[in-house]
Amino acid sequence: MQNKAKPVKKRIVMSGMRPTGPLHLGHWEGALQSWLKLQAECDCYFSIADWHALTTEYADPSAIREHVRQVLLDWLAVGIDPEKSVVFRQSAIKEIPELFLLFAMIAPLGRLERVPTFKEQKTQLSDRDLNTFGFLGYPLLQTIDIIVVGGNTVPVGEDQVFHIELAREMVRRFNQFYGDVFEEPMELLTPQSRLPGLDGRKMSKSYGNVINLSDSAETVKKKILPMKTDVRRQRRSDPGIPQDCPVFAFHKSFSSASEIAEVDAGCRSAAIGCIDCKRILIANLNRFLEPVRERRAWFEKVNVDDLLAPGNLRARERAGRTLEVVRKQVKI
Ligand code: SF4
Repeated sequence: MQNKAKPVKKRIVMSGMRPTGPLHLGHWEGALQSWLKLQAECDCYFSIADWHALTTEYADPSAIREHVRQVLLDWLAVGIDPEKSVVFRQSAIKEIPELFLLFAMIAPLGRLERVPTFKEQKTQLSDRDLNTFGFLGYPLLQTIDIIVVGGNTVPVGEDQVFHIELAREMVRRFNQFYGDVFEEPMELLTPQSRLPGLDGRKMSKSYGNVINLSDSAETVKKKILPMKTDVRRQRRSDPGIPQDCPVFAFHKSFSSASEIAEVDAGCRSAAIGCIDCKRILIANLNRFLEPVRERRAWFEKVNVDDLLAPGNLRARERAGRTLEVVRKQVKI
């Protein structure tokens, strides 16, 4: 008897970002680059998670709307295409809070309290009171973001895998109570960003060490030229070790193989100076960012709500179908 091949499940990709300001090269390396590949191969949903921003910015949400705009412009500028992917604003999907409420009924409190990022973030953001139900529930809200649109594949960095495990547990719990409604989502590990910040620490807006995707050519130059280099290169004639220099880490992401080899050898032998090395990097970064800036400038002329409207509608239709099934199964 011939073995029937198992039907291959279609990958529905779901990911999102909290709108906390303009995006930087760390976002490009850690997420957007992978999203572009996925966009070409799968059905993708990309959410600008403004309710998530509210979990930490609830006391002063005045900047969130503008941040939504900035994130959208950055996405479009790097090539996220609303004709190929469903690009939407989380708060436009009113089915999300309904499903969140239903899951809140079954989510064990202790399980949410054990999410490592819950404690970490409370310590990091000690300037505000995060002893709130909303903040405790934000990993559950992430679960809902994924499953409400039928997402089964979630591109994440290693530090987010715990959240996808939680999503699977919550889905299993729901399915046990109310029948087989949801598919358990799986993480798709994205390559770790190798890019440090300008000061060698992790690239982060809060450290003020970023290059934004929207930075002008002049700003890029002003940020790169004073960058710290390998401490061994006190004088032009001192050889250095490129692996100990954040400038070299940037070269590895934005320069050609031959330039990387040239910089590597030139640094070790002191054949090139740090300023020459940085000038090569500035040119390459600006070559990469120029088309991004051009596309951004074009989209800046368009109303953000108009850009998001088709994606909001498609996400809402999909979420509506999910909720129809859910209401039937929960009998409410
Ligand atoms: S030559 Fe380049 S890689 Fe070497 S220390 Fe200077 S800036 Fe860094």
